[in-house]
Amino acid sequence: MSMERIPIAGPSITQKEVDYVTDAVRNAWYSKANTYNERFEKAFAEYLGVKFALALPSCTSGLHLSLLALGVGAGDEVIVPDLTWIATSAPISYVGATPVFADVDEKTWCISAESLEKSITPRTKAVIPVDLYGGIPDMDKVCDIARRHGIAIIEDAAEAIGTEYKGRKAGTFGDTGVFSFHGSKVLTTGEGGMLVTDSEKLYNRTKFLSDHGRAPSEKMFWNAEIAYKYKMSSLQAALGLAQLERVNELVGRKRRIFDWYNSELGKIEGMTLNYEPPHTKHAYWMVTVILNEKFGLEKEKLMAHLSQKGISSRPIFYPLSSLPAYERFPQAKHAKENNMNAYRISPYGLNLPCSLGITKDQVRYVCDTLRSILQA
Ligand SMILES: *Cc1c(COP(=O)(O)O)cnc(C)c1O
Repeated sequence: MSMERIPIAGPSITQKEVDYVTDAVRNAWYSKANTYNERFEKAFAEYLGVKFALALPSCTSGLHLSLLALGVGAGDEVIVPDLTWIATSAPISYVGATPVFADVDEKTWCISAESLEKSITPRTKAVIPVDLYGGIPDMDKVCDIARRHGIAIIEDAAEAIGTEYKGRKAGTFGDTGVFSFHGSKVLTTGEGGMLVTDSEKLYNRTKFLSDHGRAPSEKMFWNAEIAYKYKMSSLQAALGLAQLERVNELVGRKRRIFDWYNSELGKIEGMTLNYEPPHTKHAYWMVTVILNEKFGLEKEKLMAHLSQKGISSRPIFYPLSSLPAYERFPQAKHAKENNMNAYRISPYGLNLPCSLGITKDQVRYVCDTLRSILQA
């Protein structure tokens, strides 16, 4: 083994990416300033099979714009799964609405349809299902519940480029869908995001809000509303386009890395890896293992053991309702009793190294180390 630490995540960058970004830095100015943004948006929409895509500086901004465009505001409630990154829920507060934390399914670790339905009140305006670690919730049920109760869906597909549910791509199940191109994600632009939708109205509104509230038809510097400045740079768009042209290769690589882990750890009693339900395709953004409590090893301890052996890992997310950030929210108060799966899974879950550059030998080393720590 080399002495270098095994990183948790990281991209695959080839000459194609270098060429596109080099071309953008040389040529994407003046009348060509927007060409890479337009090409990236068009190619992204085509890849997903949606009508519109809007390139953004982050996925968080995509969630913010989605809530604004759907008219979510003060007094409204928005349901989120309790087990996710705070980027899913923070924008709910940006617009003055209130997050409500639903439990996750014990197998997919994504929002539980039953808990979603129970969390709906007359104030519920929207739900943000999250495709956690490249998995996907039971979208038939989630969409059916949302339709019956007249609430909007914003699909947080930040972690799920390449994921499919019954042949349909993740990110396409909501009124809007949002993606992240943060450096740790499968497809990266360094920092960046994309909002997708089939609704021309939502597309026009989010685009308007992302550009200081000016309508394309208006005279220059003439703003109809006070809004936001959320734009992706052309250099990032060039990087994103190059990555998107390799998306099947990138997702295929993630799936292969998961297979390596699965063949080493999949049959060990008391260890649960990411679940791929029938009729779905998991993109395995993060290979994740949940340990049975019987090992007596909470995630922070296990991470420290792995770190001593040169292996980086990450804890599975803490339930949002357990974070200091939500301490004073009444909605977080009883979440622990209601969201039993989230609270049971979180203390014993770990993301294992799965950068796009990881080798089979490194995966074997991680698995050997893990087994020796657990004596499994
Ligand atoms: C990464 C991530 C985000 C945020 O993406 P940014 O591009 O960093 O804003 C949102 N939701 C989930 C589930 C994520 O993993």
